[in-house]
Amino acid sequence: MTDLEEFASNKVSLMKEKNLYRSLVETEKIEGVRIKRAGKNLISFACNDYLGMSMHPKVRAASIRALKKYSAGAGASRLITGNYPLYNDLERLIANIKEAQAACVFGSGYLANISVIPSLVGSGDLIIADKLVHACIIDGIKLSGAGFIRFTHNSLDSVANILKDRREKYNNCLIITENIFSMDGDKAPLEELYKLAEENKAWLLSDDAHGLYIKERSIGKNFIQMGTFSKAVGTYGGYVCGKKALIDYIKSSARGFMFSTALPPSIIAATKSSLQIIKDNKALSLKPIENACMFSKLLNLKEAESAIVPLIIGDSSKAVEYSKKLEEYGFYVPAIRPPTVPKGTARLRFSFSALHTKKQIEELVKIIKKEEIIK
Ligand SMILES: *Cc1c(COP(=O)(O)O)cnc(C)c1O
Repeated sequence: MTDLEEFASNKVSLMKEKNLYRSLVETEKIEGVRIKRAGKNLISFACNDYLGMSMHPKVRAASIRALKKYSAGAGASRLITGNYPLYNDLERLIANIKEAQAACVFGSGYLANISVIPSLVGSGDLIIADKLVHACIIDGIKLSGAGFIRFTHNSLDSVANILKDRREKYNNCLIITENIFSMDGDKAPLEELYKLAEENKAWLLSDDAHGLYIKERSIGKNFIQMGTFSKAVGTYGGYVCGKKALIDYIKSSARGFMFSTALPPSIIAATKSSLQIIKDNKALSLKPIENACMFSKLLNLKEAESAIVPLIIGDSSKAVEYSKKLEEYGFYVPAIRPPTVPKGTARLRFSFSALHTKKQIEELVKIIKKEEIIK
């Protein structure tokens, strides 16, 4: 047996050698997109708070009111005593926004994915997932015990071929993708995927964690929409929307729903308030993409499809070097390296917010050109 301390320090040394070691940097939001990171004031192009809702005065006020009225914590899972009144309101609101019959709120998006996937499929079933889906989807797939095949990113042909070869050998089949991919910012062809799913008696689950305008997406009866409140909504928690029967079933089977404590009232109240503001303000929801498009246009990149724009550098140490360079100019743009992204595709990942100004984006572009990060 290895001594535990020795075990951990050996692991850390190995990670450091391979450039896989991650360290935490104390970061504070100042105002809008301004952050203080390791004591330094920076403009952030890293946050998922796309609409600036986390700092919104009305959202914070709603949170404080709920904290005073109810409690600091929920005290138990929703099936025991944690189902305080705000929950039903929030589930009705998100279902309404998503044009679904019903919704189920989870502790986080991560928890939703690792809970819902094993509720839907298991041994004898098949999962076909996009090659670039998020880590928590992969974890949910592993927990499910279902057969698992990845399809080439956003390739309908690849999905069709897998279905043709394998569908018949399995009982139920679940296709999994993301509305917007978190490291590339591109969109999945959801309508076409749904059509393929229907033709092959499969279900479709899509993760809308990076969705911005939180609209539409009723798509069809065998469509499951998963999402999170921790990004554009600016608060915390995950959700799943779909047919009433599906949501009923999930509430009695998803382990991360049944065996985890409900979210605190202050969080649910903040989420409700934020969603209502977003729902009533379409122009605000469009702003992050407009900013991303302005940036991609100024740099002659492929037109942005979402608020996320990657600048592929390739080499990991080069990406880190560029990130540090931008920081010297007062901009925080993270370098994303393998294993988060495939080998040889280390990148700078720019996340645009509704609160970035034209001037900030122009200044950033000027520096990227001056430092020859893009030639
Ligand atoms: C962030 C993210 C999640 C996890 O959501 P949390 O609410 O932060 O746990 C799930 N899926 C995708 C695609 C994400 O980007």
